[in-house]
Amino acid sequence: MSKQTLSFQAEVAQLLKLVTHSLYSNPDIFLRELVSNASDACDKLRFEGLNNAELYEDAPNLEVRVSFDKTAKTITITDNGIGLSQIDAVEHLGTIAKSGTRDFMAKLSGDQKNDAQLIGQFGVGFYSGFIVADKITVESRRAGLPASEAVRWTSAGTGDFEVETIERAERGTSVILHLKDDASEYLNTWKLKGIISKYSDHISLPILMRKEEWKEGENDQPGEMVTSDEWETVNQAAALWTRAKKDITQEQYDEFYKQISYDNQSPLASTHNRVEGATEYTQLLYIPAKAPMDLFNRDKAAGVKLYVKRVFIMDDAQALLPVYLRFVKGVVDSSDLPLNVSRELLQESRAVKAIREGCTKRVLSMIEDLATNEPEKFASFYAEFGAVLKEGLGEDFANRERLAKLLRFSSSTTDTVSVGFADYKGRMKEGQDAIYYITADTQAAGKNSPQLEIFRKKGIEVLLMTDRVDEWALNYLHEFDGTPLQSVAKGAVDLGKLQDEDEKKAAEEAQTQFKPMLDRLKEALKDKASDVRATTRLVDSPACLVVQEGDMSTQLARMLKQAGQAAPEVKPILEINAQHPLVKKLEGSDHFDDLAHILFDQALLAEGGLPDDPSAYVKRVNALLV
Ligand code: ADP
Repeated sequence: MSKQTLSFQAEVAQLLKLVTHSLYSNPDIFLRELVSNASDACDKLRFEGLNNAELYEDAPNLEVRVSFDKTAKTITITDNGIGLSQIDAVEHLGTIAKSGTRDFMAKLSGDQKNDAQLIGQFGVGFYSGFIVADKITVESRRAGLPASEAVRWTSAGTGDFEVETIERAERGTSVILHLKDDASEYLNTWKLKGIISKYSDHISLPILMRKEEWKEGENDQPGEMVTSDEWETVNQAAALWTRAKKDITQEQYDEFYKQISYDNQSPLASTHNRVEGATEYTQLLYIPAKAPMDLFNRDKAAGVKLYVKRVFIMDDAQALLPVYLRFVKGVVDSSDLPLNVSRELLQESRAVKAIREGCTKRVLSMIEDLATNEPEKFASFYAEFGAVLKEGLGEDFANRERLAKLLRFSSSTTDTVSVGFADYKGRMKEGQDAIYYITADTQAAGKNSPQLEIFRKKGIEVLLMTDRVDEWALNYLHEFDGTPLQSVAKGAVDLGKLQDEDEKKAAEEAQTQFKPMLDRLKEALKDKASDVRATTRLVDSPACLVVQEGDMSTQLARMLKQAGQAAPEVKPILEINAQHPLVKKLEGSDHFDDLAHILFDQALLAEGGLPDDPSAYVKRVNALLV
């Protein structure tokens, strides 16, 4: 191929502009990105080499070399990994393939400050070279191809790039950065070494640099440090997770997290363990500080990378954690799985099942530890991920009790989301035999709901459940530590021993005394209510709606409908407060039907719903007002 000039894909040109304009605040990252690409290229060779040993071409030791030339003002990063063919060079270095980077491009705004932050989250890979270079040359030969089929790619990082065929004996890639004038500080061994140990220590291959030597000065001239021809390894060259915990600093753990997660914040917590026994593996798992925007997408890529005996196998290995822990990031390195493990195989493997159980337990311990020892961090964790954790009640039966202990809610007496079932139990009234809760759209709607009136009067705490997932999740949790959970909006209210004999008698009497009126109401509302009955649960409100035990709450049915999903028609029961003046007025009223409908619609409004026919409701109320 003779020399050709080609244009970058439009997004690349855009990205390049941004890289050079926004990333100057942390130029060091160029080296991290290029070393990481070099390491990926070696991983790829190792992987392809499993089935085709010839690719190693008698150079089995994979490594990365970083060197610089003060006179030419260049830095060169060379790897002997898989290399690029001519087509690869055009396709991979001229377009953006990675979806993360594409998403990032979609989010671009004109605000450069914001963008600089965003860019940090996604990592810009190869193009970050242009932060410090005004020209980049890539020379590469794909493993297995003849020396005559190597490629040179050159670009100044503006609109286009050049490619041409060259001769290259060595397999792999050299990236040559022609430094900008203001980037000469990088032509220095200590500077480069410092960046490598900060960002790339855990890279499992050796990163080599030329040794520095002290050269005596001649004729009374001062001596100086010069680079020798001898190479030395400048990183730890051991994957971070393979090192002993005591040899890893918090900063290294955090830095590793940032690299695998593309998050620019430090994680909230981490756990690192080597598991021995029937299945052997190492896990290094993190809980991020903030939830991603797509947290509620259950199909989203999982965050755990799978390695087998240090060989990278796949990103987002979903089989390694249950879906409700999808926010966890990290690495699992197994000694038992075959290297050619596929996603399908992962689903069936017994070793994977054991790993999943082990990882789940570890993550739960990590959260329990926060709950016990670091309440502030736990509160922040819960605000970000609490709703997702609840999905576990329906998904992970084996750990249901552990999960239940971690849940927190607000309540009729506590505004912050901080009440656990155990706290609640500790505060239960003498004679109370259930944990009471109400599901509602919002905390205010729950707290002011008419259903709570009797509980407030009796000083009984009621948990407020306002997450979308609550009602569904609670289907799977019927009791906590032997105490049943009872929705105050389902079934007849039975406060058991908390109600005295007089109150029970009054309730029964009301039922008989008001029977004729209840029957009339039932007839008037037969299209809306499945039943009408007198209740003792109301104190200030005239009426409220409840559903049968076991029915979907009106609130969940409403939510499903709003989301465009099928929901069963729930015909609620109208409960009325026979002591209320409005109800008393009903008896002899000429507007019985209208009042009946108003009563029903108001009960619906009180719990955050809307009358089926709002204008009919308004007309009825207005008719009474004039
Ligand atoms: P990515 O995040 O995919 O690594 P980059 O922009 O950093 O994105 O690189 C684009 C692609 O170029 C890589 O996916 C890879 O295919 C190729 N590439 C980059 N550096 C090297 C290298 N040193 N050896 C082989 N291929 C490379």
